Amino acid sequence: MLTFDNRFLQELPGDPDTSNQLRQVFNACWSRVMPTPVAAPTLLAYSEEMLHALELSEADIQSADWVNALSGNGIIPGMQPYAMCYGGHQFGNWAGQLGDGRAISLGEVINSKGDRWELQLKGAGVTPYSRMADGRAVLRSSVREFLCSEAMHHLGIPTTRALSLVQTGDVVIRDMFYNGNPQAEKGAIVCRVSPSFIRFGNFEIFAMREDKATLQTLVDFTINRDFPELAAYPQEERLAEWFAIVCVRTARLIAQWMRVGFVHGVMNTDNMSILGLTIDYGPYGWVDNFDPGWTPNTTDAAGRRYCFGRQPDIARWNLERLAQALYSLQPEREIFDEGLMLYDQTYNKEWGAILAAKFGFALWRDDYEPMINEVFDLMYHAEIDMTEFFRKLALVDATQPDLTVLESAAYSPALWDTFKPRFTAWLNQYAHAIHADDRDPAERRQAMNSVNPRYVLRNYLAQQAIDLADQGDSSMIDELLDVLRKPYDEQPGKEGFAALRPDWARHKAGCSMLSCSS
Ligand code: AMP
Ligand code: MG
Repeated sequence: MLTFDNRFLQELPGDPDTSNQLRQVFNACWSRVMPTPVAAPTLLAYSEEMLHALELSEADIQSADWVNALSGNGIIPGMQPYAMCYGGHQFGNWAGQLGDGRAISLGEVINSKGDRWELQLKGAGVTPYSRMADGRAVLRSSVREFLCSEAMHHLGIPTTRALSLVQTGDVVIRDMFYNGNPQAEKGAIVCRVSPSFIRFGNFEIFAMREDKATLQTLVDFTINRDFPELAAYPQEERLAEWFAIVCVRTARLIAQWMRVGFVHGVMNTDNMSILGLTIDYGPYGWVDNFDPGWTPNTTDAAGRRYCFGRQPDIARWNLERLAQALYSLQPEREIFDEGLMLYDQTYNKEWGAILAAKFGFALWRDDYEPMINEVFDLMYHAEIDMTEFFRKLALVDATQPDLTVLESAAYSPALWDTFKPRFTAWLNQYAHAIHADDRDPAERRQAMNSVNPRYVLRNYLAQQAIDLADQGDSSMIDELLDVLRKPYDEQPGKEGFAALRPDWARHKAGCSMLSCSS
C-alpha cells in the first residue's frame, strides 16, 4: 500500500476551474485534470530499481490496477491527478504560458525511508495546457525517455527517473519531419518519477505576470519541500542561498553531461529542473564523433543554440532568466550576481576535475591545457568517437605509447591516416605527462574506466530498440536497460552495444538528427 502525500496540490494555490478546456490559468500552480483513457494498454518495460524505490513488487506493477494507473485508465487510492502551470523561454524568447500539456502528475509517494517520489504520466492526454497539441506521446520518444532516464541514473548523473513504459493501443498522428507528411504511429506513456518536477519556468510565469504573491508562495514551498537544508537560514538570506544552491547544482549537472557526451537538445527554461536534474528527454543525443557544434535537434540545426559545446553557456543564460524572475522578490542585484559567479566557478572547477579524471591524472596541472585542447581539436577534425577514445586511452602504456590502441575510435581510416602524425606527437606528449604524474598504471586505468563509460545509449542503439518495439518486439529495450545498468563495466558478450555508430546510421532519422515531433 503506497503512502501518498500530495504537497504540491495541498500547499500551493490551484485553479478553481476543473474543466478540461484550454485556457490561460492565473494565480495558480496547478489544474486538476484526469488522464484520458486509452484503448488497450500493455506494459512493455519497467525499471526494477524504481520498483524497489517505490516499494512495489513485480506482481503489483503487472496487476490490472497498476497497468491501468500507468496508462491513464484508472487511479490508485491516494492519487490526485493534476497538470502544472509554467512558462518558459524557448530558443531565447519568452513563450508565455506552457505548462504540462501532455504530462499529468498522479501524486507524491513517500516510501518507508521518507523519500519523496512524484509520479507523472507523459502522454496521458490533453490538459488545460495542451495548446494546439493532442496531449499524447509516440512509442519512439517514450522508449527514448524511458531508457535514457535510467541510463543517466546508472551513469551517476542527476536525472528524473522512469518507472514504466506502456503502449496504449491507440495511434498518434505525427508529422515527424514537419514536411506535410503525417503518419499514424503507436502511442505510449512513460511514468516518470522525480522528487520534484518544478522547472525554472514555474517561477518565470508568475514573475512575467507580475504575480508576486504566487511567486513568493511557490518559492517558499520549493525551499520547504525540496531544500530542507535551508530551513535553518534566516528568512532574509534564504533566497540568495537558495539561488546559489540552484546555480551550483546546475553547474554540476552540465559538467556531467559534458563528461559523457550527452546533448539535451532543447535547453529551454521550461526544461530546466530546479533540482538540477536532467529533465524532459526529447530530441537529445549522444556525441559519437567528437564535435562541439553537434546538435541532435533538427529544429536547432540552423542556430545550434543547444549544441554540445554551448550547453554550459546556455545553462548560465537560463539561470539568468531564473534570476530575473526572482529579482522581483528581492531586488538586490548582488545576490544574483554572486549566484551566477558561483555557477562559473563551480562549472570550471568541476570541468577541471572531470578532465583530470577522464585523462587519468592524479593531479591536475594548468599547463596540461594546451595538450588537452590539441587532442579535442584532433578528435574533432579526425572524427574520433568520444566514448571509444576515452575508454581506449586507459590502455596507453606511459613507457611505450602505441597509437594503434586508439585506432578503433576513428570513423574514417582516411582521416586517421591524415592525422596520424599529429596524433603520434600528441600521444608522446600525453605519455610523458602521465609518466610524470607517477600513478600506478593499474590504478590509473581503473580510475579512468570509472569516469569514461564503456556503454552509453548511442542514438542508433535506441533507434534499433524502437524499430523492434514498433514491430511488437520489446526485448531490446530490456536488453539495453540491462547493459546500461553497468555502463562502466566491461560486459563480455555485450561488446556489440559499445560499437561505434555504423555507417547506415550516420544520416538516418532518429540516429543522427531528431525532431521535436514526439
Ligand atoms: P517540450 O519542448 O517538449 O518540453 O514541450 C514544450 C511545451 O509543449 C510543454 O508545455 C509541453 O507540455 C507541450 N507539448 C509538447 N508536446 C505536446 C503534445 N503532444 N500535446 C500537448 N502539449 C505538448
Ligand atoms: Mg518540456
